[in-house]
Amino acid sequence: MSEAARVEDCLFCKIIDGQVPSSKVFEDDMVYAFNDIEPKAEVHVLVVPKHHYANVAQVAASDHELLAHMVEVAQQIAQDKADGQFRLIFNTGEQAGQSVFHAHGHVLAGSKTASIPMAD
Ligand code: 5GP
Ligand code: ZN
Repeated sequence: MSEAARVEDCLFCKIIDGQVPSSKVFEDDMVYAFNDIEPKAEVHVLVVPKHHYANVAQVAASDHELLAHMVEVAQQIAQDKADGQFRLIFNTGEQAGQSVFHAHGHVLAGSKTASIPMAD
C-alpha cells in the first residue's frame, strides 16, 4: 500500500500490508478479504478496502465504484464458500458496534445465518 493510504497503528492497514498475519480469502487492487478471527457464522469474512477509510460512509462519500466492488466481492465469496446468499454488515461508529476504524464489511453466509446477532 502507498504511504499516503496507510494509517499508522491501524490493525487492518497492517493486515493488508502483511505485518499482521491473516487468513486471506480474496485480494485484488481495491480490496483485501480475510477470515474473521472470531467467526460468528459458518462463513465470516471481512471485506476491506486497501485504501484506509474510517468507515463505510466515508467510502460511499469518496468512491462509489469501490463501494459497489465490496458488494460484488461479498457476493463472490458467498458463492464460493456457501450457496450465494449472504448478509453484509457495516458497523459504523462505536455505539453501532464498530471496533476497528478501517472500513470493513462482514460477509456472513452459510446455514442459520439470519439469526446471528452482530453485537456482543
Ligand atoms: P467491528 O466490530 O469493527 O465491526 O468488526 C471488527 C472485526 O474484526 C471483529 O469481528 C473481530 O473479530 C475482527 N478482528 C479483530 N482483530 C482481528 C485480527 O487481528 N484478525 C482478524 N482476522 N480479525 C480480527
Ligand atoms: Zn487502515
